[in-house]
Order: sequence, then C-alpha cells, then structure tokens
Amino acid sequence: MTGIGGGWGMSLANKLAEERRARLAAERLLEQKQAELQAANRKLGRHARALSEEIVETRAEVQTVRDENARVKSDLNVANEKVAIAERRLWHSIQTIQDGFAFFDAESRMIAANHAWLGVFEGLEDVKPGISYVEILQCVTEEGVVDIGDADPAAWREKMLDRWQTVAPEPEIIRLWNGAYIKLIDQRGQTGDVVSLALNITDTIRYEERLKEARRKAEAASRAKSSFLANMSHEIRTPMNGVVGMAELLTDTELDEEQLLYANTIKNSGEALLVIINDVLDYSKIEAEKLVLHEEPFDLERCIHELIMLMQVNARDKGIDLLVDYDLFLPTRFVGDPGRLRQIMTNLLGNAVKFTEEGHVMVRVVGVEAETEGAARLHVTIEDSGIGIPADKVGHIFGEFNQLDGESNRKFEGTGLGLAISEKLVRLMGGDIWVESAEGQGSTFGFAVELPLAEAETETGQDFSVPDGLRKVLIVETNALNRAILERLFTALEVAVVCCDSGARALEAMDAEVSLVITDHVMPEMDGIELAEALKEAGHAAPVLLLSGNIGSVDQDPGRRFVDAVLQKPFPRNALFAALARMPGLRAGLADAPPSHAATQRVMRVLAAEDNKTNRLVFSKMVKAMDIDLKFAVNGEEAVAFYRSFRPDIVFMDISMPEMDGKEAARAIRQIEAESGAHVPIVAMTAHAMEGDEDDILSVGIDHYLSKPLSKQTLIEHVLAACPAGVRPPREGQSAA
Ligand code: ADP
Repeated sequence: MTGIGGGWGMSLANKLAEERRARLAAERLLEQKQAELQAANRKLGRHARALSEEIVETRAEVQTVRDENARVKSDLNVANEKVAIAERRLWHSIQTIQDGFAFFDAESRMIAANHAWLGVFEGLEDVKPGISYVEILQCVTEEGVVDIGDADPAAWREKMLDRWQTVAPEPEIIRLWNGAYIKLIDQRGQTGDVVSLALNITDTIRYEERLKEARRKAEAASRAKSSFLANMSHEIRTPMNGVVGMAELLTDTELDEEQLLYANTIKNSGEALLVIINDVLDYSKIEAEKLVLHEEPFDLERCIHELIMLMQVNARDKGIDLLVDYDLFLPTRFVGDPGRLRQIMTNLLGNAVKFTEEGHVMVRVVGVEAETEGAARLHVTIEDSGIGIPADKVGHIFGEFNQLDGESNRKFEGTGLGLAISEKLVRLMGGDIWVESAEGQGSTFGFAVELPLAEAETETGQDFSVPDGLRKVLIVETNALNRAILERLFTALEVAVVCCDSGARALEAMDAEVSLVITDHVMPEMDGIELAEALKEAGHAAPVLLLSGNIGSVDQDPGRRFVDAVLQKPFPRNALFAALARMPGLRAGLADAPPSHAATQRVMRVLAAEDNKTNRLVFSKMVKAMDIDLKFAVNGEEAVAFYRSFRPDIVFMDISMPEMDGKEAARAIRQIEAESGAHVPIVAMTAHAMEGDEDDILSVGIDHYLSKPLSKQTLIEHVLAACPAGVRPPREGQSAA
C-alpha cells in the first residue's frame, strides 16, 4: 500500500482520468449507437410508409378487379341471353321452312332435325336426335319411306352411305313412297359436322316432265305437218303440171285472140302457183328432214355468172348494175350441191334486185382457209343499195312467212319463204347465213360454207397469168365498186394500175407506159367507144378493151373499129384472161404482134336445133350479118350427132322438138362432155316464158335460156359472148351480108 498517500493520490487521479476517458468513450459509443439507431429508425419509417402505400394501391386494384368481374359477369349473362334468343329464332326459322333440315355430328349421329325432315318419318319413333345415319338408311329401306324402285336395298344403302362419307357429297335426288321428289344436299363442316338439306323439288320435276312431253308432242306434230305439206305439195304439183302443160299445148293450137288470152292466163297463173308450191315443198321437205343434198363437182364462178345472166334482164330494166367480185386466187371448181347453192343465191340475188330501185347489186366471193385440207371456206355476199331492212326486223328476217309488213313492202310479191329456205339449206350444208342492213341504204346478205375442192382443182389449180407485154393498165370506170374490183385484180397480178372515172380524165392520165386501156362502155359525156377513138387519134397505140353491159349495141356503133376487144359485163375471170391473151400487141410487146389474126383464125361454129322451118328461117336471118358457120339440126338426136361431128362453139336448142327434145339432147351433150371435160354453152329457146321452170331447164345442163320470139340483139350477144380464144370474132365479117 505504499502507493497510498502519494500513490493513492496519484492513482485516484489516474483512476478518475481513466474513468472519465472510459465515460467519454462510452458516451461517444452511445452517441454513435444512438445515431445508428436513428438512421435505422428512419429507414424503417420509410419502409413502413412505402409498404402502407403499396397496400393502399393493392387494395384499390383488388377493388377494380372485383368491379370488372361483376361487370363481365353481367355482360356474359346478357350475351348468353342473346345467344339463346338467336338460337331460338334460328331454330324457329328452320322449323318453319318447308324443306327438311338436319344436323349430324362428326360420328354421323343426328343432333337435330326440323319438322319437315322428321315429318317424312312420321310414326317411326326411332328416328330422332341421336340416331345414326346408317340406322336412318336402314329404316327408310325397311319401312319403304323411299321408293328405290328395283334396286337392291343393301346395295342402295351402300351407295347412299358411300356418298355420305365423301368430303363433299354430290346432290342426290330420291323419290318418296308418296311420289314426292327430294333433292338431298349435304355439306360437311370443318369439324366433321354435317348440315343436311332435303329440298322438295316435286313441282319442278313434274313441270319438266310436262315440258318434255309437250315438246315431244309439238315436234311430232310439226314433223307430221311438214310431211303432210310435202306430200300435199307434191300431189298438187302433179296435176298442176298437167294444167300448165295442157294450157301451153292449147296456146300452140289455132286460137282466136280472146281464147289465147284465156289460155295464157291459165298457164301463167298455173306457173305462178307452181313457184309457190315449190317453195312450200322445199320448206316442208327440209322441215321433215327429208331433203338430201346431191353433191358433185361444179364450177362456182360459172354458176354465179349464169345466175347473173338470168337476173340481167330485170336489173337492166331497172337500171341497176350487177357486179361480180370473185376472189382472184380462189379456185372455181368445188364439190357441193350446185342446184341447192344456185337456189340459195337465186333467192338472195332475186331479193336484192327486187328490193333495189337504183344503184347496184354485187356478188362477192372470197375464200378463207378451211379447217380441212383440200377444202375452202367460201364467203358469198350479196350486197345491194336498195330499201334495206328496219333494225327491229333484221333479227327475224330468216323466219318462215316473214315478209316485212308495211307500205314499202306491199308492192313486192313473194311467199316469204325464200330466206327461210335459204337459211335451212345453208345450215344443211353445215354453213352460216347472216344479214347486215341499214334502212334506206341497202342490205348485205352473206353465207359461208365449206366445200371440198374438185379433183381437177387440187391437181392443177387455176393459172391466171397476164401477157408479158402488160405492165401498166389504165382503168376507166364510172362505178367506184367496179373500179376497185379491177384495181385489186390487176394489182394482185403485179400490173401497175391507174384508175379514172371519166373519159376526159383518162385522156389526161394516158401516157406511153400504159400498155392496155380497159374502159366502161356507157359513161356520161364521153362513152368508152368515143374514148377509144380519142386515144387512137391522139396517137396512143395501146389496145382498148371495152366492158359493156350490152355488147349487141357495140357492134352497131361506127366507132367499134377503135376498140380492140369487147367483154360482156359482168364477166367470169377466165373470159377476161382469154380476152387479154387475145389482145393484139400485149403478148410480146407491140412490135412482135401479128397485124391481124383474121386470116389465120378459124371461123366460129354455131349449131341451132329447131324443128320448125319458119323458125329456122327467122334464126338464120337474125345472124346473117355475122361471120359464123351456122348449122341446123331438126331434132334432138340430130343435134347430138352434129355436136359430135361439127364441134360447135355454141348450141341454140329449141326445147320442144319431136324424137328427142331439147332437154334430153342437152343432157346427152353434157354426158359426152363429162368424159372430155369440155363445156359448150347451150342456150335454150323456149316457146313461152316459163319462169317457173327455169331451174328445171338449167338443171339439165343448159346455161342460158331465151324465150321466143327471139330478139336479134340478144341472139348476137350470146354468140359473141361464146366466142372462144383463138377463134375469129364473128363480128369481123359483118360487112359480108
Ligand atoms: P319473199 O321475197 O318471197 O317475200 P323472202 O324470205 O325471200 O320472201 O324475204 C322475206 C322478206 O325479207 C321480204 O319480203 C323483204 O321484206 C325482206 N327482204 C329480203 N331481202 C331483202 C333485201 N335485199 N332488201 C330489203 N328487204 C329484203
């Protein structure tokens, strides 16, 4: 304890200092802990605040979700109600429809069906929702719900089940026990459900059956009617021929003027009636499907020119131009029924001339490539500048008995069968017929048929070539159509063409390069002959070819000597080419041309068959001015014999002759020619105009016919037109008389 006193004093102070230090340290620690505690407290407080905020938020959210739920629930209720209503309505509608309606599930079990569907199974309790399709099939066959006819029930069920199981079953028509017809239409949905419709089509089927029956009856009646008409027409025709023939014979006997008038009236009326009967006969024959086509090789171009010749008289009287435009590169010989084609064209041409008061009628033939080889598709159009057909009538113009009614048409006669017959004939040939028309401006009727080329054509074809000397041609034509036809023709042959529409213009256009002038005859101011004279006077040496509608009158013209050749309009192309080949100065240029062929060429041979002495005299007087070798036959037999020995260039044939008549003789000549391939023009001379028998005469191979009394001019025209190439044109010896 040494330290006590001083030591004690010291140690106390130390202890105190120590204690103070310790206290201070403890105080500092306390402060520090307090600060830490405070910080922790603050942090805790912040956390607590955040937490409570979160809780508030969550609570709010929970509330919104709750509200939402309640709303959705009520919306769902409304929607459910709506669905229920829609379903009720739909089902109600399905129940009301008269046709059957059912659904099936993917296992082919019926889910539901409407009254109409279930109604068919009335009394069969098994058929209700839950039944399978197989069971239904079983049921309908066992209970006889469906009339399956003679079919085997098991086979029928199998067939129906096969159909049902396809992805998209075809509609099926079944017949129920009560005669009702049901059309089953089944549609498979994506999930395999099937909606099945059963339509009651009994009325439609019954209606169809009635229609078919009515149609069958109508067709049978129509055929019976046509067949009756055909027989009747034939029966009427036979005695009518007697009437007409006897009336004709009567007119050949001694009659006074009054009696002759009566007899002629009987004959003419009879003939008019025959024309009508022929139409009806043809029409009924076609309708009764009794008309057959007689196909043979024939010359289409010649056929058309023969028709034109026949129409020429009428057309010339009315002042209408008849034009033909036959496609240059189209062959002329085809295999078809020339008689029926002629009938079609006669109808169309006859109408065209009948319904045209001024202007032109033009036949145009164009060839289009055919579907089969060795054939051509021919387009024949007949264009006129006549009265035309009103737009609302054009559509049924080809119908039978369809004459346009009205003032403008009443003055034209006809049966109204012509076009209907033409249409049927064209259809029979497998072709088409049409018309285009503008009222007051004209009509164009056209038909197209496909015809095989005749043998000779396919072998050789037609060779149209122009003489070497022909380089440039001057065409003088007032008619624009004719001008265009000629221009096209020569251009196709690679000949330069200059066209003029008057003599005056031609004189202006003429130059040294022109190697041929082709001119129309009748033109205003300066006609073709005057033009030829003017050209020669102006020192132009080019030959002149005159196209005339009336070549008889050319020969009476003193200016004829300025013209080098004359062609009767319209001319077939071979006549033009023959004329070109004959043309002096064209063959090998002017210098080489022989001055005249008169001395070297033979004279033209003309045969006339006529049994009546006076008529023979008349004939010879009429042609006496011509430079021809004329021979007479007094009957048909002699005519045929002379045809062989005399080899005439043209034959005039009286129709009624003893022994062998003109028609038989013509037929015999054509038979001889069938072997040689030649064709002599035969012109019939009939005692009386026999308009009705035109076809009859032409059908034996006669080309033209003239009715007595003969006119000198037409006789001369026919002789001139028949003059073949290489024969001295008969007009040269005119002065001999
Ligand atoms: P038809 O000439 O015998 O009366 P169609 O059958 O040949 O009978 O002609 C029927 C009608 O069609 C004619 O009456 C006429 O009204 C009209 N028609 C025919 N061709 C022509 C034409 N080229 N121009 C104007 N009308 C025509």
